[in-house]
Amino acid sequence: MYIVQIASECAPVIKAGGLGDVVYGLSRELESRGHCVELILPKYNNMRYDHIWGLHDAYRELWVPWYGAAIHCSVYCGWVHGRLCFFIEPHSEDMFFDRGTYYGCDDDPMRFAFFSKAALEFLLQSNKRPDVLHCHDWQTGLVPVMLYEMYKYHGMEYQRVLYTIHNFKHQGFGGSDVLWATGLNRESYYFHYDRLRDNFNPFSLNFMKGGIVYSNHVNTVSPHHAWEAHHGSCGFGLGHTLHLNQHKFSGILNGVDYGIWNPETDTHIPAPYGIETFEDKALNRKELRDRLLLRAADKPIVAFIGRLDDQKGVHLVHHAMYYALNRGAQFVLLGSATDRTIHDWFWHEKRHLNDNPDIHLELSFNEDLAHLIYAGADLMLVPSNFEPCGLTQLIAMKYGTVPVVRGVGGLVSTVFDWDYDTERAPEERTGFVFYETDNYAVESALNRAIDLYYQSPQHFRQLAIQGMQYDYSWRNPADEYLKIYDHIRHK
Ligand code: ADP
Repeated sequence: MYIVQIASECAPVIKAGGLGDVVYGLSRELESRGHCVELILPKYNNMRYDHIWGLHDAYRELWVPWYGAAIHCSVYCGWVHGRLCFFIEPHSEDMFFDRGTYYGCDDDPMRFAFFSKAALEFLLQSNKRPDVLHCHDWQTGLVPVMLYEMYKYHGMEYQRVLYTIHNFKHQGFGGSDVLWATGLNRESYYFHYDRLRDNFNPFSLNFMKGGIVYSNHVNTVSPHHAWEAHHGSCGFGLGHTLHLNQHKFSGILNGVDYGIWNPETDTHIPAPYGIETFEDKALNRKELRDRLLLRAADKPIVAFIGRLDDQKGVHLVHHAMYYALNRGAQFVLLGSATDRTIHDWFWHEKRHLNDNPDIHLELSFNEDLAHLIYAGADLMLVPSNFEPCGLTQLIAMKYGTVPVVRGVGGLVSTVFDWDYDTERAPEERTGFVFYETDNYAVESALNRAIDLYYQSPQHFRQLAIQGMQYDYSWRNPADEYLKIYDHIRHK
């Protein structure tokens, strides 16, 4: 099959979070099974160019219709650790992707409306006719809309779209200017509740809603989250739209690329280890302490890696830092915030805790350090308010780092409580789960984890190894994606 992924991220060259990991990992798995996979991405000026091989301008004359005129683009081609990627570079004074950041600009909806249009125009003009366009998140929600309303009539009538939603919280909103810019026009047609009109703001078009309505199939990244989005509050206002489209909506758990995240082969860590050589994890713990200037002590290291964002339960992270210290543990945090208030708050904490030898806050995005933390920590905290799938707990388990998580979304389906998960045999359990959003809830789970570490090290070790034994690779998820591709392409 010929599959083109259209996305705003691909790890490690463009990565703000799990989306980048998923786009890369799934593509790699599909290719390893003999499918032809290509990726279309924006050419951001701040992406990691050191991870692209053979970058060259492959198409110099891509003209993308925009506001009745056209913007000249170059399309660069290069390999990101073996994946064939096309990077779109517009030459216009809007400087859409030359902002030094991937997201967070006031005109993000316009930037990614342009990207979606350019991706389709590139496919059209270069005569690429994939079986499936796999689009991701709100940034590409307009791709299926434009495909079925415009490009289908220009020679792309056989292309089919799978739309994957990684985060319902960010949906992409725009006004009629988006319609004029992209050439969709017909305001009254698109501002209809059956199409793109937002379910709650009648003056707004909702890109993600467009993606759901127009795609041949829609999925989110775990079955449990699919249920939460459809029936609960996790759809952020799109529950009704999902309900109307439930015949083509499902959940597929993300995988982890064990080519990158594997303690036995990880080149970022000083002492690779596996289940048989679990004791060598201690060497990584030592290196982590040395690198972050933590004192050497027989204490468990509790870690948090993630975006410092409301979604991730920052208040609980903050509380857990102090609680872990009081309970005789050490704490390592790696995270970055786009929200100014959260950013300032954690910088304040960092300065306040600077001289404490049991805690380190690293407020940046640092892929290398992330590997060392997964390998060196004992416990990984994931106290999210909502979590479509969550990769940190999956990676942590592969590294024998026991997850302590809130029971929501994908965390429910992947972490099984050591003490209370009566549905699973003791040897199938993998971590600690709490459910409420208050401080006591996180305290009680951390308490149980830290107690086990101190009072029953053999059991703690066994729990860590049980997590390592699970297979959360892309093998199973790729099977499911292939079934969907196959299903929609015959429609
Ligand atoms: P989300 O996609 O909501 O951000 P996920 O758990 O799905 O959360 O994926 C997060 C990914 O981003 C993981 O690979 C994690 O290791 C990585 N990550 C998050 N924050 C950082 C950071 N500050 N530095 C390095 N890696 C990070």
